[in-house]
Amino acid sequence: MNAPNGLIGLVSATAAGRRARDLVAAAWPEATRVYDTGDQSGADTVRSALTRAFAECDRIVCFLATGATVRLLAPLLGDKESDPGVVCVDEARRYAVALLGGHAGGANELAHAVAEVLPGCRPVVTTATDAVDVPGLDTLGPPVEGAVAAVSRAVLDGEPVRLVRHVPFPLPALPENVTETDGGDGAGDGSGGYTVLVTDRAVEPDDRTAVLRPATLSVGVGASRGAPADEIVELVERSLTDAGLSLRCVAELATVDAKADEPGIVEAARRLGVPVRTYPAEALAAVPVPHPSQAPLAAVGTPSVAEAAALLARGEGAELVVPKRKSEVQGRAAMATCAVARRRPRGRLAIVGLGPGARDLLTPRARDELRRAGVVVGLDQYVAQIRDLLRPGTRVLESGLGAEEERARTAVAEARAGRAVALIGSGDAGVYAMASPALAEASADIDVVGVPGVTAALAAAALLGAPLGHDHVSISLSDLHTPWEVIERRVRAAAEADLVVTFYNPRSRGRDWQLPKALALLAEHRSPDTPVGVVRNASRPGERVAVTTLGELDPTVVDMMTVVTVGNTATRTVAGRMVTPRGYRWQGGA
Ligand code: SAH
Repeated sequence: MNAPNGLIGLVSATAAGRRARDLVAAAWPEATRVYDTGDQSGADTVRSALTRAFAECDRIVCFLATGATVRLLAPLLGDKESDPGVVCVDEARRYAVALLGGHAGGANELAHAVAEVLPGCRPVVTTATDAVDVPGLDTLGPPVEGAVAAVSRAVLDGEPVRLVRHVPFPLPALPENVTETDGGDGAGDGSGGYTVLVTDRAVEPDDRTAVLRPATLSVGVGASRGAPADEIVELVERSLTDAGLSLRCVAELATVDAKADEPGIVEAARRLGVPVRTYPAEALAAVPVPHPSQAPLAAVGTPSVAEAAALLARGEGAELVVPKRKSEVQGRAAMATCAVARRRPRGRLAIVGLGPGARDLLTPRARDELRRAGVVVGLDQYVAQIRDLLRPGTRVLESGLGAEEERARTAVAEARAGRAVALIGSGDAGVYAMASPALAEASADIDVVGVPGVTAALAAAALLGAPLGHDHVSISLSDLHTPWEVIERRVRAAAEADLVVTFYNPRSRGRDWQLPKALALLAEHRSPDTPVGVVRNASRPGERVAVTTLGELDPTVVDMMTVVTVGNTATRTVAGRMVTPRGYRWQGGA
């Protein structure tokens, strides 16, 4: 588990608390600061430790009872935005309770993280949105402003809430009372209803509108040596205001490498609360811009700094929304230029392997991606496998067997429309499954995230023993997509190379001669007593595991729910388990 961001203060009062504290400190040595209360557990010492931690840290873990913590914290409380998040861990380390600052203070996230560090510890989160499984507006990713509390409450209470997106930001599922409309901006448009607005435009939020601020904008800046920060800040703010854009959506100030340490730019970025990103002059020179000029070419080696840097920072598909403009200072020449580029937030396609079936073989990452998705695309039987994990309101596009290409195309089209899509498959979604048809369709304008899953060959191998201990291959016997000659050539090659072979799609009602034929090819190079594992429904209800031999396998027990793993010449059956030795010395003379 990675350490959460920021500085985490650790406060404890008892020996048991100190032991738990030391585990957390050891897990995140860089991110934590121990507030030592010595050996005395006198309340004054703990009180002063907590007071210091409260002033110095972004978050705090108290190894104290909630009651004691509440009493000590009460006089320190300021406001929700600036107070640190506080998590309490009990003496027995059973619970990590998010006590204060669940969302804004990051305590919910910290409670989960602490619980992962302490064996047997469970996170306790009581903020309403997390408790009823609706994503908090402030956990959706982008910063949020306006009537966050009122709109969150409306979402939670099931009141009608409008979602208006000026930019197609990929959101996870929102509950059914939140409906997307494209009318108005919801802010002061007189509609009176609650609105979640996703926009990079400058709007005055009213008391019923929460505004999500995705980082769509990049401000390119050029500056002569010694340009004052005031001049740069004023220019940036005026450029955004004139274009009706929000400073909250600026991802960075972008400029040329040579200006990385220019004090005015560094200070302006600090005041605007954004990082500085710099690019080599050659990279900037290669960006086509509407207003190239001689001055920067001579000074830093590129005909454009502001426009080129803004465009480059936003990447492919960026458009210039404010062309280069100069600062205006009375009585002397301008020392700064600025331009603004925008890119639509990219849609997100997660390709998620669900594992062979059992819930505990679904990875935590796969689970997170399912909950991050607004749209889930998959085969109906796989959707059924994980439906309970989806957030209420997730749009599910399921289809039956055979519609692979259509599923792939749908998933990609949804992501290109700017949505957060999870394309699911059993086992690993890249093994004889959806990842390749989807990525064959996908363009560069979406983000793709792959989540590996336990593929059938591995799930079966774990049940059989250690059949894959040396070099091995998987071969699908389905000749629907692959001509039989090709399959046969590969089986022969595997036979000659003495590879352990796992057959996927081994046999169906209409395809019954391929498996015997493939086994016969292997038998030309392996003895009849070569171990063969037959696993049906690995880690699913109806699981069946058998170890037999090449000479004795009855192909009629094999169907499409089964994988068949054939050992190599060194594979042995030991105590009923298939074992393929690792060392070449074991290979014998075969
Ligand atoms: N993407 C899947 C494979 C899809 S091909 C994966 O990575 O596992 C479908 C074939 O996989 C089936 O015909 C069967 O041979 C095999 N298979 C999938 N799940 C299985 C399971 N739980 N037990 C045994 N075989 C399985």
